[in-house]
Amino acid sequence: MPAEWVDLKSVKAKVSMETVLSHYDVRLRRVGVDEFRGKCPLPTHSSARSKDSFSVSFTRNVWSCQSASCIAARAGRVGGNVFAFVAEMERCSIREAALRLDRSLAENLLPPATPGDNEPVSYASENRPLSFTLRNIDHQHSYVISRGLSAQTARHFGVGYYDGNGFLRGRVVIPIHNEHGELVAYSGRAIDAAEPKYRLPAGFRKSHVLFNLHRAIESREQTLILVEGFFDTFKTHEAGHPNVAALMGSKLSDRQAELIGTYFDQVILMLDADEAGKAATAAAGTALSSILSVQFVELASGTQPDQLAAEEINQLLGGLDHDVRAPGR
Ligand SMILES: [Zn+2]
Repeated sequence: MPAEWVDLKSVKAKVSMETVLSHYDVRLRRVGVDEFRGKCPLPTHSSARSKDSFSVSFTRNVWSCQSASCIAARAGRVGGNVFAFVAEMERCSIREAALRLDRSLAENLLPPATPGDNEPVSYASENRPLSFTLRNIDHQHSYVISRGLSAQTARHFGVGYYDGNGFLRGRVVIPIHNEHGELVAYSGRAIDAAEPKYRLPAGFRKSHVLFNLHRAIESREQTLILVEGFFDTFKTHEAGHPNVAALMGSKLSDRQAELIGTYFDQVILMLDADEAGKAATAAAGTALSSILSVQFVELASGTQPDQLAAEEINQLLGGLDHDVRAPGR
C-alpha cells in the first residue's frame, strides 16, 4: 500500500497551538504579551516539582518544556511546533502526527485556525466563557426564515447567518450559554446538506450544559420542558414557553440531570418521537425520576417538536396533568 500523502505545510497553516491545546484540554495562564504557561501535559514529563515548565507562544505557534527530565526523555528536544506537540502526546512520528491532524481536519474534529485572529481565546476547555462575540449576524437570513423562526425569536436567541471568518463561516450560528448566562460556545448549523450538520469548537463539552437553561431559570417556572434540539427550543419558546432547554442531542448526561435537579422541581420530557428519542426518553425518565418529578409528552410517531405548530405544542403541554406518569411506550 502506498504511503498516505500529507501536505505538512497546508496542515500546519490550518492548525494552531491553541486548537491542539484545546483538543487535549490543556490549561495555561497568560504570563506575558505572547507567553502562556502551565503544567506540562506531555507523557514524557515525570518531574512533579516543575509545575510551570510548559510554555507556549500563540503568535509563533510553538511550545517548550524547560524541565530537564522531560527534555531528556524527548532525546534533548526542548520544544517544537504543532506537529512535534501532537507527536509527543500521541507518541508517534511527526509524519503520523501530521496525518492525524489532517484526518481530524477532514472530519471537522478540529476547527481550522482563524486567520487574523491573534488573540488566543478558548484554549482551556472547561467550557470557559468566550472572550468574544460574533458580529454581523443576519437574523433574517432565508434559512432562519425557512425554519419557521420569526425575526423576533432569532434576535432573542442571537441566531443568524454568519458571514465572517473561521470554522463557522457560512453557517447559521447559535450562541450557547452556561447556566449563569455566560456565552461558552457557538454552534454552526449548515444551511444546506453539508456535513457535519452542526459544528462545535474542539474541546467544547456539550454534556456539561443545556441549551437555553439560563433563560429557563430566569423564567422562574418550577417546571422545565426538556427537548432535544435548538429548533425544538425555538418553537417551544415561540409557543409561549420560556421554560424550555435542550440536550443538544438525545442523551442526558449525569451533569445535565444534576443541573435540571438543581434548578427545577419538575421536568416535562418532549423528545423526538423517533427510535433514538424514544430510547432517550426512557433512559432520561429513569435517571431524572430519582431526583424530581417527571412527565412525558407523547408526540405522534416520527415527529419532533420543531415540526409542530404553536397550537399543537400547547395542546400537548396543556394536556398534561400534574401527576407523575409512567412512559406510555
Ligand atoms: Zn515537560
